[in-house]
Amino acid sequence: DKDRLRLPPWLKTTIPIGKNYDKIKNQLRELKLATVCEEARCPNIGECWGGGEHGTQTATIMLMGDTCTRGCRFCSVKTARAPPPLDPKEPVNTATAIATWGLDYIVLTSVDRDDLPDGGSAHIAETIREIKRQNPRIFVECLAPDFRGDRECIERIAMSGVDVYAHNIETVEKLTPFVRDRRAEYRQSLHCLKTIKDINPNLITKSSIMLGLGETDNEVEQTMKDLRSVGVDCVTLGQYMQPTKRHLSVIEYVTPEKFKEWEVKGQEIGFLYVASGPLVRSSYKAGEFFISSILK
Ligand code: SF4
Ligand code: SF4
Repeated sequence: DKDRLRLPPWLKTTIPIGKNYDKIKNQLRELKLATVCEEARCPNIGECWGGGEHGTQTATIMLMGDTCTRGCRFCSVKTARAPPPLDPKEPVNTATAIATWGLDYIVLTSVDRDDLPDGGSAHIAETIREIKRQNPRIFVECLAPDFRGDRECIERIAMSGVDVYAHNIETVEKLTPFVRDRRAEYRQSLHCLKTIKDINPNLITKSSIMLGLGETDNEVEQTMKDLRSVGVDCVTLGQYMQPTKRHLSVIEYVTPEKFKEWEVKGQEIGFLYVASGPLVRSSYKAGEFFISSILK
């Protein structure tokens, strides 16, 4: 345990909560909707649920159950070869809860379901269509699996009416085999992101990089350039945090100043927006960033 890095002061946070937060939390209990924000005890909940300058509230929910067919070494979601079947009522029930909730921006994420022939893409697309049908004013971001690069699966999501299509590259190329599940490949993720733009050039695409796993500055910069070269519009960078002792150790706590430098670098590289900071997650204030970028 001696070897473990001490948590730097900027990561010792208390969760700031506001008026909206309590309101949403009470509504959620009635709707029986589980959010990633709460379950992961995300420190950004006050900012995301409270809405920022534009008052755009963001929350993240996870589809297709709590069990993933993959086992990435940074992720605390449980793994099984054959998770329970999908709930056919999930698309409608989720959409109803979201519409009742009255949020402005919803991020849908999911486990990977390599056990299903379509990777769950039809289920996710149906959920998006149903959310838009029940509330045409809400913006939907989908953080999707790689679907092993399958064009048809990617197309289902890209043509579902989704506003932002995200897929996370997670780390630099060299570290990918050590960090992500062996089925998740760096080039495959780039290919997925490129395919989204090929299918629907109007979609905003987004990806996320975790820092602190031992990557070099050059590798981070190269990853950002690789993302931009396949047309990715938005990038987020955040600190990797070890969920349990069985997961990968943190090699470095990247300073807030360094994150700021990455933000500037990302803007130079030409992203529409860059969110970069120790506590930034791929969905961090996603609605606020989305609204300010379309107002630009
Ligand atoms: Fe976690 Fe996603 Fe990897 Fe599954 S595919 S283990 S949910 S990061
Ligand atoms: Fe929820 Fe994502 Fe915001 Fe955290 S960063 S509160 S998980 S929307």
